[in-house]
Amino acid sequence: MNITEIFGCEVFNEAVMKEKLPKETYKLLKKTIHDGKPLDLGVANTVANAMKDWAIEKGATHYTHWFQPMTGFTAEKHDSFITPTEDGHIIMEFSGKELIKGESDASSFPSGGLRDTCEARGYTAWDPTSCAFVKDGTLCIPTAFCSYTGDALDKKTPLLRSMSALEIQALRILRLFGNTTAKRVITTVGPEQEYFLIDKKYYDERKDLIYCGRTLFGAPAPKGQEMEDHYFGALKPRISAFMQELDRELWKLGVLAKTKHNEAAPAQHELAPIFSTTNVAVDHNQITMETLKKVANRHGLVCLLHEKPFEGINGSGKHNNWSMSTDTGLNLLDPGKTPSENAQFLLFLAAVIKAVDEYQGMMRVSVASAGNDHRLGGGEAPPAIVSIFLGDELEAIFDAIENDTAYEDLKSSKMKLGVDILPAIPRDNTDRNRTSPFAFTGNKFEFRMLGSAASVADPNIVLNTITAEILMQFADELEEAHDFTTAVNDIVKRTIKNHKRIIFNGNGYSDEWREEAKKKGLLNLESTVDALPVMIEPKNIEVFVRHKVFSETEIRSRYEIQLENYAKIINIEALTAIDMVRKEYIPAIIKYSTTVALAVNSKSVHDIPCRTEIDIMKKLSMLTDIMYDKVAEIESLDRKASELAGKERADLFRKSVIPAMAELRRAVDEAEKITSKKFWPVPSYGDLIFKI
Ligand code: ADP
Ligand code: MG
Repeated sequence: MNITEIFGCEVFNEAVMKEKLPKETYKLLKKTIHDGKPLDLGVANTVANAMKDWAIEKGATHYTHWFQPMTGFTAEKHDSFITPTEDGHIIMEFSGKELIKGESDASSFPSGGLRDTCEARGYTAWDPTSCAFVKDGTLCIPTAFCSYTGDALDKKTPLLRSMSALEIQALRILRLFGNTTAKRVITTVGPEQEYFLIDKKYYDERKDLIYCGRTLFGAPAPKGQEMEDHYFGALKPRISAFMQELDRELWKLGVLAKTKHNEAAPAQHELAPIFSTTNVAVDHNQITMETLKKVANRHGLVCLLHEKPFEGINGSGKHNNWSMSTDTGLNLLDPGKTPSENAQFLLFLAAVIKAVDEYQGMMRVSVASAGNDHRLGGGEAPPAIVSIFLGDELEAIFDAIENDTAYEDLKSSKMKLGVDILPAIPRDNTDRNRTSPFAFTGNKFEFRMLGSAASVADPNIVLNTITAEILMQFADELEEAHDFTTAVNDIVKRTIKNHKRIIFNGNGYSDEWREEAKKKGLLNLESTVDALPVMIEPKNIEVFVRHKVFSETEIRSRYEIQLENYAKIINIEALTAIDMVRKEYIPAIIKYSTTVALAVNSKSVHDIPCRTEIDIMKKLSMLTDIMYDKVAEIESLDRKASELAGKERADLFRKSVIPAMAELRRAVDEAEKITSKKFWPVPSYGDLIFKI
């Protein structure tokens, strides 16, 4: 197989456009893609027709506007290309209008009250900056999804808006530094995706995995991840075959899948792509998650994307590597080679630091979900407190700037921006701290709080917007300054002074840090329910409205949707737990106890003591009593919750249902430890994690 040939073979990319489109059309389309120029209908018709012919060659019969509603997943409604002719035949047609805009019944997608049922329609609009592709016989056209009143109902619309907000402000700064060549600033993202693979035959026997994507019960296996023998370990043949096919499928769709390896937990793996424009990275991550599941199925495996499929074993995240670049290829978070480049680098760096400190609550909100609460609030990588890791070199440089002292690697007596040349910052040294939620890794930031199942859009919408805000403040100040270099120096110095509380290079998991962070006034929002109200604080609404990323109505609707979503997830988990305990665990334990009781009977006839049997029966009886009562308690809480809405409902789930479920789990797991494996109704942790 020739990989260079299959790469992107299912994508209507620039090379295909160039080949299939008339020269003039291609030029106009490129202008739309690169400069954001609107496309006229004549051009769209030509593009649509070429796209259709190409897709049919690839075996497509249908097209779909592929969009990302607020469920966090992708949605597609397929229409075939067929159009009837007068003589009873059909032709395959696809118009520019159909390419550019689609109509969709939006009533079943979450809108948080944005759309009343009488105006249930939404529309989808082509995003020409992300390439169309053919998947399973359908031409997929990446689109944005809005209500008829123009409110965003998806994750792509605000993401594109946030990218443009950042671009406007970053260009202002670049012009001030005398950069006249850069026409565009784009944000780039490389998301590293973690996931678990388990055998489908065990998955099918666990309702919790089927309904909730994670195990609600399960005693730990004798072995966990303590031997650290899985991380970067040799791939088992079955996993290797899966990964090979996964790579091929992703490459065909133009996804730059680059690195694959076993992760820390047994049965856990990771895939990292080469970074791309944020918007494309988000789309590609959606394709990746979908492909992971699809390919796993073909290998008799199931891919679990949940943040915490197994208790007591590392959960899965998605590291969001993020930076800003010009269209001329300059990475704005790359330390430069000249004094001026270095001053510019430090200014952009300072902007990100200030942004993350001032809007740390929004950073936390951007990764909040019921699933991710198991990682962030659960004493696992990384903590729920947002902090920034800079590395020793940068910290020393910042110290020198803040205190007007010499930086030891420099000849000059003082560290002066725009005068001194920074030493090369070694990349290897920057990434030692794996506990940091937001780490500077040489020429980009790595945001590690995102959950494995989440859309990459949310954290980037926030990162782009808050960075745009601070760049705007800096640009406002610098445009008024008499002496530019001094002004840059002042801003960087002031930013370090005012925002150094967010910089932390130590162990993010330690209790001392939690204490220290509290003293510094950093937020520690342990659960989604604690975090979400941050969204509707006036300061946060203002920043999104100011940069035209969200309207206030859009923010409030998203707040409602997220609360609702949280409650729905815990509700499903509660109902699944009740179902499993009543219909599987309790009956199985009773059956086992009956067998033990029979043993007692037959032994007693011969006066043989039955200490073990009786002890087992007593313990199991006590545990099933707890289960029985807890299930009733959860059921009644659930009924109570159904009468509530919004924050109150979410609060009840968080404060009462979750603790009750934890107690229920403890009883079930205790029982599992003393029940014969033959009688246990579901596969064990050992089966799930090690038998693959
Ligand atoms: P690791 O974190 O495993 O040491 P790297 O730091 O090389 O590996 O890259 C991790 C991820 O960061 C990759 O997906 C890579 O493409 C991405 N990345 C590298 N440079 C950038 C950048 N400028 N912007 C966004 N992502 C980047
Ligand atoms: Mg990394």
